[in-house]
Amino acid sequence: MSFTADTLLLFGATGDLARRMLLPSLCALDADGLLPEKLRIVGTARSPMSDSEYRNFARAALEKFLPANRRGRMADFLNRLHYQANDVTTSEGFDALATAVGDSKDRLAIFLSTAPSLFEVSIEGLRQAGLAGQGVRIGLEKPLGIDLASSREINDAVAAAFPEARIFRIDHYLGKETVQNLLALRFANSLFEPLWNATHIDHVQITVAETVGLEDRVDFYDQTGALRDMVQNHMLQLLSLVAMEPPSSFEADPVRDEKVKVLRALRPLAANESVTGQYRGGAVGGQIVPGYDEELKRDSGTETFVALKAHLDNWRWQGVPFYLRTGKRMHERVTEIVVQFRCVPHSIFKGARMQPNRLVIGIQPEENISLSLMAKVPGLDRDGIALRSVPLDIAMPDAFSGTHKRIAYERLLLDLIEGKQTLFVRRDEVEAQWAWIDAIREEWAREGLQPKPYNAGSWGPSAAIALAERDGVSWHE
Ligand code: NAP
Repeated sequence: MSFTADTLLLFGATGDLARRMLLPSLCALDADGLLPEKLRIVGTARSPMSDSEYRNFARAALEKFLPANRRGRMADFLNRLHYQANDVTTSEGFDALATAVGDSKDRLAIFLSTAPSLFEVSIEGLRQAGLAGQGVRIGLEKPLGIDLASSREINDAVAAAFPEARIFRIDHYLGKETVQNLLALRFANSLFEPLWNATHIDHVQITVAETVGLEDRVDFYDQTGALRDMVQNHMLQLLSLVAMEPPSSFEADPVRDEKVKVLRALRPLAANESVTGQYRGGAVGGQIVPGYDEELKRDSGTETFVALKAHLDNWRWQGVPFYLRTGKRMHERVTEIVVQFRCVPHSIFKGARMQPNRLVIGIQPEENISLSLMAKVPGLDRDGIALRSVPLDIAMPDAFSGTHKRIAYERLLLDLIEGKQTLFVRRDEVEAQWAWIDAIREEWAREGLQPKPYNAGSWGPSAAIALAERDGVSWHE
């Protein structure tokens, strides 16, 4: 059912994600006049708070996490906020929530920003309180499970109360401007699509490198590891957008139908197609930092780095490796996709060093797109033509100056409120992602694979370099 919500009911309203991302995103949307005029935002968590205490809590978060020039009239935004305490593990508080939601039961968007272990009880409480009817949609924050079985369990619990058309699974990478721009690049230009296949593309690299270590996610991270924290969701979503067939429209199902076909075409990895690592002490950005085991204060077999060589078994991508790598305490914070084209079949420029074209899509920290092209070095060419690879750059902030760099959650929360599902992950996608990841973890367990140490501030263990180099490929750094 298509409707714009009158009320947003935010579970986990006192949490870290709410403070750093959700409240700032909602305030920034309000400042730009993008929230429905009458939208009320009802926060809920266990902590007892009055409306005015919650508004003070939100104000402090906005002052800390939202730049002043994006806050608009903050008092107007704060007036939209209400708060109703509820411990979701007891059934008592849900009726009070229903009362707080009031007449909006038929135009309600709910967002669960709590641990997924609380989803099932939350959904049952919502259902019993009459907050799961036709006019209610629900957004779910990741992680959706730790493997295929647990993910199915969560999906089943949600499906017991909400049909798929009213379930909005977040992968915040899909809210990023450059990630959506990848679709514009591929499907709004005639230049790339004819070349976007195994005949013309040699390989693809996707890197998500972080400089941070464990931060305060110690227990969560040690039970999760890089493969499940980053590859299962964000990186496979990026891969599916790079590799999918052109959808017939930008509507939710055509896009998601094509993505899921890609995810199902992922070939199970062979034993020598993955490398795991764990950081030791080192220096990042000139600062000495401790190793993972020192931060954790014990030994651990959890990987903080993973590099994979993936293949898609379909016509378009046969023989084209997709190299994926992600890690913590890496040399530099960067998220990028590199599409490496093949060399020209024959060079007429004898003696000139030819380099294949390369498209680099920078997602973080800078949003930019760069296409390397061969060009003639100016000169009289007495010793033959000299060539050099030069970048054709589109720095997105320059090309679209005057527009804000938005928080990914701005787009996603607005789409949740308005009921647009294209940038949310469908159940079959999540489950295809988990099926592939589970097979990798089973292989690691069979092989008794232990993460290789790497120095903080490096690009990961040397085996990751070898993974690409044995194919004659260098990681883009
Ligand atoms: P958090 O800081 O631990 O906050 C958890 C929230 O849940 C708090 O508002 C807490 O409030 C509430 N809560 C806990 N137990 C509850 C209960 N029994 N009944 C009702 N409310 C309860 O966690 P977070 O960092 O905000 O993360 C929320 C979810 O988003 C997690 O699944 C996390 O993995 C995911 N996530 C977080 C980030 C991030 O950057 N933080 C990024 C991606 C995904 P009270 O203590 O007041 O009840």
